Amino acid sequence: MMNNQQRKALVCGAGGFIGSHLVKRLKKEGYWVRGVDLKYPKFSPTQADDFVIGDLREQSVVRRVVDMPFDEVYQLAADMGGAGFVFTGENDADIMHNSALINLNMVEACYKRNIKKIFYSSSACIYPQERQTELDSPALKEEFAYPAHPDSEYGWEKIFSERLYLNFHRNYGIDVRIARFHNIYGPEGSWNDGREKSPAAICRKVAEAENGGEIEIWGDGKQTRLFLYIDECLEGIRRLMDSDFVGPVNIGSDERISINDLVKMVADIAGKDIKVKNKLDVKALGVRGRNSDNTLIKEKLGWAPNYSLRKGMERTYAWIEEQVKKMKQ
Ligand code: NAD
Repeated sequence: MMNNQQRKALVCGAGGFIGSHLVKRLKKEGYWVRGVDLKYPKFSPTQADDFVIGDLREQSVVRRVVDMPFDEVYQLAADMGGAGFVFTGENDADIMHNSALINLNMVEACYKRNIKKIFYSSSACIYPQERQTELDSPALKEEFAYPAHPDSEYGWEKIFSERLYLNFHRNYGIDVRIARFHNIYGPEGSWNDGREKSPAAICRKVAEAENGGEIEIWGDGKQTRLFLYIDECLEGIRRLMDSDFVGPVNIGSDERISINDLVKMVADIAGKDIKVKNKLDVKALGVRGRNSDNTLIKEKLGWAPNYSLRKGMERTYAWIEEQVKKMKQ
């Protein structure tokens, strides 16, 4: 039952990785929560008070879902996945069309319903490819977004939607918050469905490999990335939402690591000796080197992520190892 004192939140994409964790976090904070998604969370029951299975590309669904003056709306729904989904080019039309429609519908519905605050999850993928060509490319500052030249249609849609929310903020006074997530990982994320990102894919490959075995890694493995543990992402979202800073702001770790070193770390966590076979003829590689500059988030929120990659990977590996064992049974 909803009580009148409770803050009310809508989480779009509540069946997905970050959305399902966000619902849990909001419930812990005492919110009444409605979730919406095409599907229920895959790995544990939703904790939302109300969960609507619906397609946010449909205006009628969006109107039905945004039917009360929520205090906060978190718009995380998007057609997305890891490199194998985003960088092959095969899903570009869907990625752009589906996610843009969701955002166009949501921002308009929030405006019409006088929603107090809407959070939009953008991505590090909006940054220009030229800024990420070296293994030690300078950390990405928010202002580097322009002139825009993302390396994927996914990034172009995100930059369009950032601007869409900012325009509604400027022209219609909607209170928006925009964060650019940098590679979020953790338990209960995609790990074997073709949409998984590198931390989950590496954990799966290592969990499936015999001690002394070999796993295949896309590219030469020297490409650098950073990964942010899910709990830190949620902390950043909530702090941004409670602040009066609109963004866009990076929410990412600044602990850069090469993919080969990440494999070594996971092998060590697993207690296995693992050899790496680098697969070089892969189209879906993404940029060469990426890092998040966290000056702005520190300045505006007085906080920045600092959870260690090792600790986060230990938790993620434990969960994926359990999934692999369950699959074998
Ligand atoms: P996810 O794919 O697990 O979650 C997205 C959810 O949106 C899915 O459950 C999907 O079913 C739902 N969805 C897609 N189309 C829909 C539709 N038409 N109607 C209703 N629901 C729909 O992804 P995630 O990792 O949880 O990411 C959440 C958000 O954060 C996304 O917007 C993503 O682009 C952004 N982001 C994520 C990362 C990351 O590393 N995970 C990095 C940058 C940005």
